[in-house]
Amino acid sequence: MTTPLELVILDMAGTTVLDDGVVEQAFQRAAERTGVADRMPWDEALDHVRVTMGQSKIDVFTHLSGGDVPAAQRATAAFEGAYAEIVAEQGVSEIPGAADAIQGLKDSGLKVVLTTGFAPVTRDALIDGLGWQDLIDLALSPVDAGRGRPAPDLVLAALLRTQASSVQAVAVAGDTVSDVESGRRAGAGFVAGVLTGAHDRPALSAAGADAVLSDVTALRGALVQRELLPLITTS
Ligand SMILES: [Mg+2]
Repeated sequence: MTTPLELVILDMAGTTVLDDGVVEQAFQRAAERTGVADRMPWDEALDHVRVTMGQSKIDVFTHLSGGDVPAAQRATAAFEGAYAEIVAEQGVSEIPGAADAIQGLKDSGLKVVLTTGFAPVTRDALIDGLGWQDLIDLALSPVDAGRGRPAPDLVLAALLRTQASSVQAVAVAGDTVSDVESGRRAGAGFVAGVLTGAHDRPALSAAGADAVLSDVTALRGALVQRELLPLITTS
């Protein structure tokens, strides 16, 4: 007997929002402007950024700066500024089909919450750029929850804010190992990795994903297949 699903939590960059290297470009600009990664070779810094994709940016910069919290805070501010610049230069696009996929989940009676490692200002710029304010129920940044991923806080904060009845009634999907780990640590009933972002199938599977999907548009079908959602046609 499975618990009926009530809430789906989706990551933003690389899961519902097209990334195309924007996060890496923003990291590069922030590093150039603040020197935050000067204590290690650039390749090593970039590798850390890639491995930790999905985690809170302040946590990533704290590591890069060798634990210098004020330097990490300056770098985080520079990152958010650079990300906003790049979005202004290049625009923001959804992962193809993401908005329809979210609407399909909503039409199935689910709440949909977006989560991100970005600060609220960046998160809201992306949501405004996509015109998704009325599409989603809520969007959460680490500062809204406590700790960033891979801690379970974002998932649990989404559950509390939407008043879902059980962690078993929550599904989580994201493109990074940290997304999958945070879902597992929160006890979510279903945790999926998606292949439109930072990490590959072996990494997402090893992190404990119940399924690894080509992209977010395959999520609803996977939920129906596992009888976590009733098979109803939506338009
Ligand atoms: Mg992501």
